Amino acid sequence: MSAASLTPLAVLHEVFGYPAFRGQQQAIVEHVTAGGDALVLMPTGGGKSLCYQVPAIVRHRRERGVAVVVSPLIALMHDQVGALEEAGVHAAFLNSTLTLEEAQRIEREMMSGRLVLLYAAPERVTTPRFLAQLDSLHERGLLSLFAIDEAHCVSQWGHDFREDYLALNVLHERYADVPRIALTATADDLTRADIIERLQLGSAQVFVSSFDRPNIRYAIVEKDDARRQLLRFIRDEHEGDAGIVYCLSRKKVEETAAWLNEEGIAALPYHAGLDADVRRRHQDRFLRDEGVVMVATIAFGMGIDKPDVRFVAHLDLPKNIESYYQETGRAGRDGEPADAWMAYGLQDVVNQRRMIDESPAGEEFKRGQRAKLDALLALAEAHDCRRVRLLAYFGEPSSPCGNCDNCLNPPATWDATEAARKALSCVYRFHQNHGQRFGAVHLIDVLRGKSTDKVAQYHHERLSTFGIGADIPEAQWRSVLRQLIALGHLRAEGEYNTLELTESARSVLRGEVQLLLRVPAEHPKRGRAARAGGTREKAAPVPLDADGQRRYAALKAWRAEVAREHNLPAYIVFHDATLAEMARSQPASLDALGRISGVGARKLEAYGRDILRVLEAAP
Ligand code: ADP
Ligand code: ZN
Repeated sequence: MSAASLTPLAVLHEVFGYPAFRGQQQAIVEHVTAGGDALVLMPTGGGKSLCYQVPAIVRHRRERGVAVVVSPLIALMHDQVGALEEAGVHAAFLNSTLTLEEAQRIEREMMSGRLVLLYAAPERVTTPRFLAQLDSLHERGLLSLFAIDEAHCVSQWGHDFREDYLALNVLHERYADVPRIALTATADDLTRADIIERLQLGSAQVFVSSFDRPNIRYAIVEKDDARRQLLRFIRDEHEGDAGIVYCLSRKKVEETAAWLNEEGIAALPYHAGLDADVRRRHQDRFLRDEGVVMVATIAFGMGIDKPDVRFVAHLDLPKNIESYYQETGRAGRDGEPADAWMAYGLQDVVNQRRMIDESPAGEEFKRGQRAKLDALLALAEAHDCRRVRLLAYFGEPSSPCGNCDNCLNPPATWDATEAARKALSCVYRFHQNHGQRFGAVHLIDVLRGKSTDKVAQYHHERLSTFGIGADIPEAQWRSVLRQLIALGHLRAEGEYNTLELTESARSVLRGEVQLLLRVPAEHPKRGRAARAGGTREKAAPVPLDADGQRRYAALKAWRAEVAREHNLPAYIVFHDATLAEMARSQPASLDALGRISGVGARKLEAYGRDILRVLEAAP
């Protein structure tokens, strides 16, 4: 091994095997290494871990000392520490899963100053016992850094508030000279202000990264038969890939997982109603096995940093854009192409509105929730670039991306102003008729002039609006109604989702608002066609010829064995992209192998010879 590197870039090369920092990483790492405080706002997958790991390593090498990483995600610590140890960095975690002996051994390592990084849960960090240990380290100059991960947990505005985080200001009060770096993927101003105030980061430099995830392709399709659409999406584009399918209810999670299995797709359910044991097992399989599809409620995902999740699919509409962005952000953390796909329909709009209306929360809170839902619905109905809208929501200007469904296949639009007026006036006629209210199905029947039992029962063939929309197909009417509800001109109420006009419907009725709507697609077109050639093997992240594919497969088999031996997920040994690059460039020497991105000094030493042998022996 080369002499220990003492600069951030040299550590990045030697330890992590990466050629360059990404985005703001370098500025952050240099600032913190030099002893400054930092608040880092970076999207999921942006590369936050390196922002504290590299300074921790450099500071340790320069003057020993341990970096304390505060993280709420116990499940994650094991794998993070495993990844660091694989890279030759002495790291450990302290949490409730350890036996007393194990914990004591790690505490000894920490107190000796040999440990480089220590991960601990916030409730442990703030105990008198742990603080006394920190005092002792501090006196001996052996505290190198504090990293506070998931820093938004300190804010009540956020969705993951944790009481324990409030007590973390003690770190500043007691160890003012030790640099602190707080990190989060939550971007809004209120949360940011809260973090700065509560963690006393007033003098920290704030680093805001772009929240764009350019490798994620966004697509939102209209539901017709959501399950079939999902199956087609997976079969056409993600055969053999790992992915997450989000559903609203536990029941739907169970049913969808069972159904995918029947269709030959390895799927597992995950929701808060399952035993903790089952949940852990399923999560483990998702992390460790290849190509598992997790069907889950929102209970799943926090702290999942599996880098090769190739798609996130929503079978139901999330609550708001924040949730949608956080959930879809779990795709493609490795920077390789990934899909965020959602199927969305009239019922989703109705359900989400109802959940808000029926919640016991105060009126002001509900108003806020409705506004957030409206923003998401506008995104779903948009006929322009999805990414521009997403980023604009987070206050970031951008231009059309060329990597979303609307950019790739611009949807046709039609002027639905007249149709909308017809629908709304029909609802108005019902109302005039002794305050009657009906749901979407009957409304469409009347507009299209269909003679049904219900029409006969209520003599609706006598209404002036009967049959005024016979020229518009049923699917298109559904789309009009969905969009009218999404835009807030119609409200669906009560057990039967009967439709009612809102205040804003007046302006549409008076013809003051022009409505340009998407033309509903008969058969939603997919971007990519199914892979030709009939090979079932998962495609490599870089193009490989047939021999390359065989070398790639051999390397993956070798990696699976190492991962099993070390009880770690395969991606911690090497990422897919690193293996694919090995298969493509066929390095013949350790030197050449060491130049591949993702191959650090320690891994080269531990695995280099084995890899060269695998490459030589590959058929
Ligand atoms: P975050 O915590 O912000 O969601 P991670 O720290 O997990 O993101 O990083 C996401 C992925 O990107 C990881 O697999 C990591 O190894 C990789 N990565 C981060 N920085 C770099 C870099 N400079 N070069 C190459 N890969 C990187
Ligand atoms: Zn776009």
